[in-house]
Amino acid sequence: DPNVIVSILDTGVDLDHPDLVGNIWVNTGEIAGNGLDDDNNGYIDDVNGCDFSDGDNNPDDYDNHGSHTQGTITAVTNNATGVAGVAFDSKGMPCKIFPNALDNNIAEAFTYAADNGSIVSSNSWGGGAQSTIIEDAIDYFLATSDGVVVFAAGNDNSSSPTLGYPASYPPVIAVAATNDQDQKAWYSNYGTWVDISAPGGETFFAGDPQGVLSSIIGTYDFFQGTSMACPHVAGVAALLFSANPGMTGAEVRAQLEVSTDFIDNLNPGFEGELGTGRLNAFQALAGGPFPKAP
Ligand code: CA
Repeated sequence: DPNVIVSILDTGVDLDHPDLVGNIWVNTGEIAGNGLDDDNNGYIDDVNGCDFSDGDNNPDDYDNHGSHTQGTITAVTNNATGVAGVAFDSKGMPCKIFPNALDNNIAEAFTYAADNGSIVSSNSWGGGAQSTIIEDAIDYFLATSDGVVVFAAGNDNSSSPTLGYPASYPPVIAVAATNDQDQKAWYSNYGTWVDISAPGGETFFAGDPQGVLSSIIGTYDFFQGTSMACPHVAGVAALLFSANPGMTGAEVRAQLEVSTDFIDNLNPGFEGELGTGRLNAFQALAGGPFPKAP
């Protein structure tokens, strides 16, 4: 549903990428480049989101990371080009928070996203100190949108909720990363605070196709990380909101977590620490749960 808007707090997005541009959120209340805040939302010429790191209206990517995560969610589908996003036809709202990523930058991004219609927030970042400013902003997003906030669990191969913060903040969905065998990726954080797992890839050399293929600035590449797992979950959340417009955030979260594939049997030593299992888009949308493996 093009009205389902996924905000992506990251390094920005390649605004000219041929496989992304068609699904980058457009603020229809704003007239580009006229120097006015046409829609009175407090931001001048915020046609495609904002750069909260530098305090301007240009969320163009400088790093590739944000273009990669946004592509996993909203790369244009059925265009015979590049890759296909999970939440095809939904719109990705780039909320650039890096490189500075100060708590106030991040909080402003959550607030902007909620106030401008986003219902899913995808966050492939973490590792900072506990922050009441960030937690209040997450709470505001959830209360305003009745949506979901999804976070990468982090890449420390640790069960520490401190290293995994803000993913370990209970109101958000914490995502661990699996490889193509449904095993915990070597780097992925884990723990009882993780809610769900999703493909994050495991690469061993440049261009290794065991990574997650998505868009980067001007082209495509294979990346690995819980940063790559998180947007898969955000994408399926957008599909659920698209298919079921009346669903609440709590219902979408519950449906994501109850419809997973059981993987504890494939992950000895990590039982109960990879969430309910590996994300399954079909089962989520088809109204699972379905019978799980032993
Ligand atoms: Ca504006």
